[in-house]
Order: sequence, then structure tokens, then C-alpha cells
Amino acid sequence: MRIGFGVDVHRLEKNKPLFIGGVKIPSEKGAVGHSDADVLIHAICDALLGAANLGDIGFHFSDQDPKFKGIDSKILLRNVMVLVKDKGYSVGNIDATVVLEKPKVNPHVPMIKEVLSEILEVNLDDVSIKATTHEKVDSFGNQEAIKSYCVCLLSRNA
Ligand code: MG
Repeated sequence: MRIGFGVDVHRLEKNKPLFIGGVKIPSEKGAVGHSDADVLIHAICDALLGAANLGDIGFHFSDQDPKFKGIDSKILLRNVMVLVKDKGYSVGNIDATVVLEKPKVNPHVPMIKEVLSEILEVNLDDVSIKATTHEKVDSFGNQEAIKSYCVCLLSRNA
């Protein structure tokens, strides 16, 4: 078994779409980034890459590269899965937390789990997605940013 950890942050702005775990969430503010700024998928990518000791998401998908401009982060995660599988690993489980003041993420968690379990090639029960607010404290609490953490286990294929 190999453990991995990932974290990601994006700024929030009005009139931008908000993607979390591959699902578009109705929101007054959306995340800003070079890709579609899906903070949850980026944290998952870094956890998987970390567990396989394959560097980080910025190394594989540079935010200077026009080819990744506006890209659907599900494509990045599928590419990470190829790298992880090429190195001889498969995903055991992931556990992630999204930090967002508003709107509530929890109503969307079942759909997010469906999307992610398909890409990660695991059962729904192996994808844990949790959500919390930042109790109105600092930039996250003031709805200026969104953050996500993820840990994962990889197992080496026999
Ligand atoms: Mg990111």
C-alpha cells in the first residue's frame, strides 16, 4: 500500500462557473484558474501522484501551457490514472474534504461520487467526499477562495 496527500486552492469570483469533483454546481461565485479550476479533482490528482511518487499536477499539466487552458479537470484525472496504472498501482480508496462557505456542497456529493468512482475505477464506497465551511473566518470564510484536501491509498497490482 502507498499513501498520498493532496491539497489545492482556487480564488472565487462572481460570474464564473463552479466545478467540484467534475460536477457543475449552481453558485453565485465560481473558481478561477487556468483549467476549469476544479479544486477537488486537483487535490485528488496530487494525492494519487504523491502516492505513486510521480511529482505533482503542475509538473504534468503546466498552467503555462495553452493546451490545458479551460480544460475539463476530469481529463487531467483520467491522465493521472494512466500514469498511476502504468507504474503498477490501482486506487484503494480516497477521502477528501472540500472547504467552501457557500453554497452547500453536500447535496451534490452523491453525483460527485458517481463521477469520481467511474474515473478512479473503484466502488462508490471507496470514494469519501466531505464538505465543511470555514466558519466565516479569513479568505475562505469570506467566500474569496475554495480549498480541498485529499488522501488516498494505492495498492500495487500483483
Ligand atoms: Mg488547482
